[in-house]
Amino acid sequence: MTTLVLIFVFLVSFFSMELITWAVHKYVMHGFLWVLHQDHHENRHDRFEKNDLFAVLFALPTACMIIFGLHLHLEILSTIGFAVFTYGIAYFLLHDVIFHKRFSFLRIKPKHPYLIRLIRAHVAHHSIKEKENAVSMGFLYAGKKYAL
Ligand SMILES: [Zn+2]
Ligand SMILES: [Zn+2]
Repeated sequence: MTTLVLIFVFLVSFFSMELITWAVHKYVMHGFLWVLHQDHHENRHDRFEKNDLFAVLFALPTACMIIFGLHLHLEILSTIGFAVFTYGIAYFLLHDVIFHKRFSFLRIKPKHPYLIRLIRAHVAHHSIKEKENAVSMGFLYAGKKYAL
């Protein structure tokens, strides 16, 4: 497997994760697993939320892809695993650290238009507290209407 092909697989996997996460958010989290996502739409009281279980659900298959990919020398599998892992880190930094300020000692004031656009989109998402009629389900991409 050439390095160029693996870079292509990494990029396709990374950006596909935004589509997959959008669909999971729209149809699973705001669907039959709303019971786990609901507390993320309520005012925060505890350090952890039931919603955090989704991170575990995503992390387990990702870790398996990386471990089995490396162990069995399946470069495609480990590359996809690392792409999903990288997406997870980006999601965590943007959603949990910057937007929801889960680590109060990290005072980050986003100024970049891309970050402000994401924040405005996620504010719109959290403005609706119910399972239905949710808007802006993406995490790393926000529609033009949220631009400054
Ligand atoms: Zn939601
Ligand atoms: Zn949120």
